Amino acid sequence: MNDWMRRAAAILPVILGGVALWWAEGGTPATASANDAMVATIAAARERAAANDARLKSASRFESGGWIYVHLEGDPGAMGYQHGYLLAPEIEDAFAAVSAGMAHSTERDWKFFRKAAHEMLWPKIDAEYQQELQGIVEGLRARTGSKLDVDDIVAFNAFEELPDYYVPWLNKQQKTAKAPNLKSPGNCSAFVATGSWTKDGLIVMAHNNWTSYRNGERWRIVFDIAPKNGYRILMDGFPGVIASDDDFGINSDGLMVTETTITQFEGWDPNGKAEFVRARKALQYAGSIDEYTKIMLDGNNGGYANDWLLGDRKTGEIAQLELGLKAHKLWRTKDGVLSGSNWARDPKVLKEDTPQFDPANKESSPNARRARWDELLKENKGKIDVALAEKMLGDHSDTTQHKEEANERTLCGHVDASPRGVQEWNWQPYYPGGAVQGKVTDATMAKEMRMMARMGHPCGGDFLAKPFLAAHPEYAWQEPYLRDMKAGPWTEFRSGQAPKE
Ligand SMILES: [Zn+2]
Repeated sequence: MNDWMRRAAAILPVILGGVALWWAEGGTPATASANDAMVATIAAARERAAANDARLKSASRFESGGWIYVHLEGDPGAMGYQHGYLLAPEIEDAFAAVSAGMAHSTERDWKFFRKAAHEMLWPKIDAEYQQELQGIVEGLRARTGSKLDVDDIVAFNAFEELPDYYVPWLNKQQKTAKAPNLKSPGNCSAFVATGSWTKDGLIVMAHNNWTSYRNGERWRIVFDIAPKNGYRILMDGFPGVIASDDDFGINSDGLMVTETTITQFEGWDPNGKAEFVRARKALQYAGSIDEYTKIMLDGNNGGYANDWLLGDRKTGEIAQLELGLKAHKLWRTKDGVLSGSNWARDPKVLKEDTPQFDPANKESSPNARRARWDELLKENKGKIDVALAEKMLGDHSDTTQHKEEANERTLCGHVDASPRGVQEWNWQPYYPGGAVQGKVTDATMAKEMRMMARMGHPCGGDFLAKPFLAAHPEYAWQEPYLRDMKAGPWTEFRSGQAPKE
């Protein structure tokens, strides 16, 4: 049997069941509405059949504090199926918003991204993640009858690296006429501290995710992953994407991982391995800072280039891996604090990978937040704990103006309030983006696979789409996808959590 026939044979009993059910309900397919009813009945039958799939037995989903928690377990194909099935409505919704954004900024159609995924990314993806991605497609289709295929899902998983890293590199290679001004993104404010810097002398790690509110409002998944191979993972994430991607996660061997992107990074290696694959693999298989570094460097494609902030709760050591493409550097300490707000600091990385970035411009978002981290962390040396870290993520102190004002230069970013925008990332004045959620954990919590998470601005402020769009018609193209982003409470999540706890 060929693939089509196998699929037809598999779906036929479901369709017949649906028809029988519809027949039993006494319909007549004479009108459009009767046809609609039959289609709906068949869809319901398909969904019932999919829900009984054995692969879903150990998976679960519940919602809390504005987050959607999913537990995935088993071999890669099964975990993918669970992911696709349990988050099907969210994946279809996020795919529409993300793919619209990718096409808008790059002036390339979706076919272009599918081709890049199929030809450039797919052949270098490890077999287990190919299976997981294929599983997502199967689960998604089983639940909703979605038409998305694996090329769509792979391109979608690479939404942080294809538009802002690959496309500008390609435009330069091909000397594309009138190429759009594409800049690597500036995502996030974060720190990791240890030793004399924290209240209990153990590691504390905190991160808020900066992105467009369009995407950020959808960045509300907590993934509890129990893979057949590798370590147990607890991480935040995006529907349909196999890596945390913003990133914040812990694994059961003691590794604590977060990052902030490198502003004005340039470069791409088409022969490298997708960043989303390396990042997921490193969180799943690394038990030490050295192992983490090794996996991230293996096949480094330059995509989504980050300053990785790492902690190993077994040793109390923290590290910063500044992962450029031409250059990289690792700093590590058992007594110190490492912060990130989208700036590179190694002279070689600055020179070779971020030639446009000006570390001396005190007014830029990355540098103003860097100054604020320095100030705030120093002030609180020896006192840093989870509760204090939560407060820091909501900080609105602007070091350029020396005043409290939520804007593009504050740790809790509100670029929609800024007449300046962030030119380094090509975020125009009042760009609807900034800090969209926050997470904190410490060594004690990480040992028990627990973390705190707050959906929306970590300060608790709400973003409301309607008044924003009325005031800023230049962002009208986002209207179909831009939603209110209301802050939830700080909420605790842990591995193996049951729905009603
Ligand atoms: Zn805020």
